[in-house]
Amino acid sequence: MIRLLLSLTFLASLSANAFAAGTPEKPSLSFDQLLRSMSSAYEAPPAPVIEETVSAAVKALDADPRLWITVAASTKEERTRLLEMGLSIEEVTPTAVSGIIHRDSMPAFETKSVSVISRMPLSQFAVSAYKDFPSQDAVYHNYQEMYDRLKALEIANPDIASLFSIGRTSEGREIWTLRVNSSAKGTRPSSKPGAVFQGAHHAREHLSVEVPLLFAVWLLEHRNDAEVKKFIDTLDIYIQPMINPDGAEYDITDGKYKWWRKTRSPQGGGNFGADLNRNYDSWWCQAGASNSPWADTYCGPSAFSEPESRAVRDFVKARPNLKTMISYHTYAELILYPWGGKYEDIPDQNDLKVFKTLAEGMARLTGYTAQKSSDLYAATGDSCDWAYAEAGIFAFTFELTPRGGWGSSGTFYPGAGVIEKSVRDNVQAALYLLRNTSDPRKAAAE
Ligand SMILES: [Zn+2]
Repeated sequence: MIRLLLSLTFLASLSANAFAAGTPEKPSLSFDQLLRSMSSAYEAPPAPVIEETVSAAVKALDADPRLWITVAASTKEERTRLLEMGLSIEEVTPTAVSGIIHRDSMPAFETKSVSVISRMPLSQFAVSAYKDFPSQDAVYHNYQEMYDRLKALEIANPDIASLFSIGRTSEGREIWTLRVNSSAKGTRPSSKPGAVFQGAHHAREHLSVEVPLLFAVWLLEHRNDAEVKKFIDTLDIYIQPMINPDGAEYDITDGKYKWWRKTRSPQGGGNFGADLNRNYDSWWCQAGASNSPWADTYCGPSAFSEPESRAVRDFVKARPNLKTMISYHTYAELILYPWGGKYEDIPDQNDLKVFKTLAEGMARLTGYTAQKSSDLYAATGDSCDWAYAEAGIFAFTFELTPRGGWGSSGTFYPGAGVIEKSVRDNVQAALYLLRNTSDPRKAAAE
């Protein structure tokens, strides 16, 4: 698969409808064949030009005004404050955190007596972090390839699968949703209990697209298995692999990763985008988010300022039948449950028990760690906090592979070699959630 490379100028000149259609690939590969072909592409011997590829990728980041820094921090309160100062925290140890910060946020660090342990330009960090490079990562689905895959599933399963958009992004891309339901299609209401699987709120977290997308492939391929058939007959299942396609496409423009996290809405002063997972109306911008438009953790000018979060909001509010949700992110190998925006537990003790039971059940299947989201740090404006508070949905944030820290490599770009295990483990976790979607509270009664 070859990435669709479009310059932003070209993008801007396209009408929104240009994103709406395409010629779908033939649905010829089975789930196993597809995963195998993605893995074998990864196992191909590295091209001899790899050093050139590294230096080209690094050169592309040379002018990037951001740094990778490691800062002393040993409590969740300290980590929350760092997020508010604009640091996107990516790795956490008991005594320090590492992540990405814009150089314009650095003066605040110097005046607020933060102890910076190390700092380097993002381009320099990229040398050590890349396990793989865009040309070798071509098996990851870009926006058009994701659409083609979903469309092929719809064409091959016209009786139970339907594809529709929940809205358009700032740059006019459709936010595609594949629905699997034996009795209702498109936006027609259903009273069956609903489950939602979402990827790529954050642009550079490309593995978070593969996991829900390939779960859709698996689910439809196994549609005649007794248990899967029961899910399709009795549940209302939605798969939205790319909530932030503008950011995800921008991240791979020119075939070089840009370490982009946010949306791409113009914010003035040459700044673009808001942090979509700080933009929901749940204690918006009160903790763990930045007011600086250049920061990776920028909460946006207002709650739901971004068309992408508004599309999710309207999608959820229109479907009172939704019961469960997973929002996939990378990385750290965690399964997080509310609150993310407050240190306290959610007030309903029974619901808390449901969250813990389900998170631990899915943790056993993936090897990830289940915990309350704010045990890491508090971050308001989070999609899962909002979905639970607004609609009572049992909503989980998954931080996929790698685990991070020393001995781990890849950060946001772990290479295509991690796809197969991540997808297989997460198919099991997603099935576990579907098993508990008709009556999530039953999980806590056992
Ligand atoms: Zn994320």
